Amino acid sequence: MGLRLSRYHVVSPLTMDGATGRARRVAFATRSAEVRILDEAAWQMVAGAPESLPESIVQDLVDIHLLVDDREDELGIVVQENKKAIDSLGCLSLVVTPTAQCQLGCGYCGQEHSARWLSSPHQDAFLRHVSRKLAKHSYNYMDVCWFGAEPLVGLRVIRELSPRLRAAAESHSCSFGARIITNGLALNKRIAQELVLEHGVVGIDITLDGPPEYHDTRRGTKNGKPTFRRVFANLVDLAQSDLDVTVKLRINVDGSNWQGVSRLIRILADAGLQEKLVCYFAPIHSWGNEAHETALPAERYAALEVEWYAELMLAGFKVGPVPSRTRIVCLAVQPEGVLVDASGALFNCTEAPYVPGYGEPNSMAIGDVVSGEIPGRRRELATFNDDIMEAKYNCASCPMLPVCGGACPKLWREGIAPCPSTLHNMPQRLLLALAANRMTQ
Ligand code: SF4
Ligand code: SF4
Repeated sequence: MGLRLSRYHVVSPLTMDGATGRARRVAFATRSAEVRILDEAAWQMVAGAPESLPESIVQDLVDIHLLVDDREDELGIVVQENKKAIDSLGCLSLVVTPTAQCQLGCGYCGQEHSARWLSSPHQDAFLRHVSRKLAKHSYNYMDVCWFGAEPLVGLRVIRELSPRLRAAAESHSCSFGARIITNGLALNKRIAQELVLEHGVVGIDITLDGPPEYHDTRRGTKNGKPTFRRVFANLVDLAQSDLDVTVKLRINVDGSNWQGVSRLIRILADAGLQEKLVCYFAPIHSWGNEAHETALPAERYAALEVEWYAELMLAGFKVGPVPSRTRIVCLAVQPEGVLVDASGALFNCTEAPYVPGYGEPNSMAIGDVVSGEIPGRRRELATFNDDIMEAKYNCASCPMLPVCGGACPKLWREGIAPCPSTLHNMPQRLLLALAANRMTQ
């Protein structure tokens, strides 16, 4: 068989080894998410004449799929791997929005909030729906994500439903874990402890949009009160607690707050949160609304993001600039994963509930807890991998597909390319990974 460089690769710009003075590159095989540092001469052979490479190097590069059989249908293999992972998924993903209410009035939010909570009859119906799923397939893990609007405004519902979901999982010999995506305003020490110790929460995501002067103008309460001080205090308490939980801080960025990100990183570092906190950045995107119109141009955002990751790294935070293989892009492609909103409507997409742009009743709903799922309704988003195979989206020809997964089936359907920053800054991320590696040696 002949060998060639895989179409699924990204390579860094040329860089010099400080110890030897030799020119080298970092190559990223996206099919395996493996990284290799190669001398420039070796890289030139990989790219143009793999048969000239020493056998030991060839074998390694074949193993990580940087070099492939020149007859291989690589897109077909990647998509098949994705579909196989979906078919053999052992995790039942449940997303629950206990309430349609949120204390905040973020300008970019696409949701319309209302004073509605998941009722007791709808909780009962949801449990029956979940039990049918558990009986239908053999799952080894139930992942419950408490989501919003703001889930802690619906803490009463979490208290009622969490033990019943856990019991349902246990009755099918399925282990249980929960996560929560919260604005952090109500997440005081007592509630954080309750979530982790009583409700099996193993991951908490909180959002700050910058230091107070930026955060408070973007993420104030509905009646205009600032929230930074309280959210930050809660975040510090959580990060300094001995609770066994992963804490992630999401920093949303667009054209009106990017100037504040570096200062926020310094504030986080000065508070000594390096050990417990994982920070990541998210460019503002369309949420069924026009929010993406305030976004930074993708290339500019990507360049800034690399700077911020470098700043995090230098401040002592752990950063993971190299993405992993993504076989299951999101809830939308999971055969049984489901979101229930506070009215009992069911969805297979987390960004569809409470979005007025999808009409009333919500056109993205796939059913409701009382009548069940409408046959065929999942398919609109769930056939995403087939759509890629049919080259409906740019993902079919993109070297990032194995690690990106296609990012967001819904946005592609709406005609918005959801490409993550890695499409633009992967070569620089590879240099950052090299530097991170050097710093830990
Ligand atoms: S389709 Fe997009 S918005 Fe919906 S769950 Fe998937 S990634 Fe999220
Ligand atoms: S979403 Fe964009 S970056 Fe991701 S695979 Fe598709 S084209 Fe590539």
